[in-house]
Amino acid sequence: ASQAQGQAAYAAALQALDRKHLIHPHQNPTRTERNIFVRGKGSVVWDAADVPFIDGMAGGNWVVAVGHGRAELAEVAAAQAEKLEYFSLWREYSNEPAIRLAARLAELAPPGMSKVHFTSGGSDGTEAAIKIARRYHFERGDVGRTWLIGRHFGYHGTTFAGGAVSGMDDMHYGAGPVMPEVTKVSPPMVSHPEMFGGEDPTEFLVRELETEILRIGPEKIAAMIGEPVMGGGGVIVPPSDYWPRIRALLSRYGILLIADEVITGFGRTGEWFASAHYDPDIIVTAKGISSGYAPLGAVLMRDEIGETMVGNPEKFFFHGLTYSGHPVACALALVNLDIIEREHILGQAPKIQGWFTEGLDGIRDLPIVHDVRVHGAMVGIELVADPNTGEPMPFDRMVALIDDLRGKHRVLARDYGPTLVVGPPLVLEREQAAEISTAITDVLSRAIVR
Ligand code: PLP
Repeated sequence: ASQAQGQAAYAAALQALDRKHLIHPHQNPTRTERNIFVRGKGSVVWDAADVPFIDGMAGGNWVVAVGHGRAELAEVAAAQAEKLEYFSLWREYSNEPAIRLAARLAELAPPGMSKVHFTSGGSDGTEAAIKIARRYHFERGDVGRTWLIGRHFGYHGTTFAGGAVSGMDDMHYGAGPVMPEVTKVSPPMVSHPEMFGGEDPTEFLVRELETEILRIGPEKIAAMIGEPVMGGGGVIVPPSDYWPRIRALLSRYGILLIADEVITGFGRTGEWFASAHYDPDIIVTAKGISSGYAPLGAVLMRDEIGETMVGNPEKFFFHGLTYSGHPVACALALVNLDIIEREHILGQAPKIQGWFTEGLDGIRDLPIVHDVRVHGAMVGIELVADPNTGEPMPFDRMVALIDDLRGKHRVLARDYGPTLVVGPPLVLEREQAAEISTAITDVLSRAIVR
């Protein structure tokens, strides 16, 4: 009993310090109680009161692909920190883990994409990709190509350019003006056929994009950015012909395609890169690249684009962060990729997809469930408050459902708009998927229709 009291006091002391000092990313001002996690193993994390939770969101943020608590990764970080903790990659400097990781990524990337620029995460990856796209056109004499195309409900980070191309207006509240010369097109939200007026969604979306390109003027557009499967928008899975046709259209107008694979990269959809089959020009990665054992991102680009970045003898490629290619992060990422290969983790996503498809079968007919989307290790359950009007489930009720999952079932999931989302570690086990599915089924079955 005294040990439990000690744990409770420890947890309460941390809560108090957190409230006093931390401004959290994406902080909801009406909520002050938090889960403070102190350790993890596989797909389970323990909070400061020593209560275990199933981590349905891979570190809360689609990050921890290979699972928590890998001693092998801790050891490689310690060894690299002891050997050489940091040396800059700027200008005439380099370091071995960054070189080896770049070479490894070039092997895994789609053919002809052997150029890599490191970042500290996804938002700064988007920033880099946007600057690279503009500079590419500029160096080729196409100096008018500055516009960017994003999508409503897209999420590419919260920095100025990343936020500008994202489709979430609240991000800019009180912090405008937003970066100009950005336009947004509709997302491939096939669960809402009314968006497409009964037409085939791809047909509609390709036409909408072309109309927008012609409205702005193709000679003014640098790039379009999109996630292969939208994560923050609530697991929006496009029809299979969507990306190939968008790619073809962009190529026709000389517009680059940036695939934001911050969530989908490194196995979440069963492949190294979900965009490989539709030939993007630039791929932004983060999260799974290091499974979160250290902050890291990488921007991969077609060889010609990379060569253009460093091909002007008069002008630097004047972009990069102190921690671009951090040796400890890169050494960790190399072993993380080894683990993904050695343990056949790319084979996990289809299994996880099967387990959730089966486990969530019972919720499809619930009146509050508008759509169930399971794509690899990405699950989105879109909810309505009222099935007759289609009114989306409001924020406060979404938060209550997530609380219920966490409080009653010790299962961590997330709300993205009206969509309840699961994006677990890729090492999730069958029984854990079943536990998550049972918990979701229970919580949604008890939720009343307004
Ligand atoms: N792009 C996508 C698709 C993301 O999901 C995220 C973060 O969730 C980002 C970019 C931003 O990455 P970061 O939070 O590492 O800056």
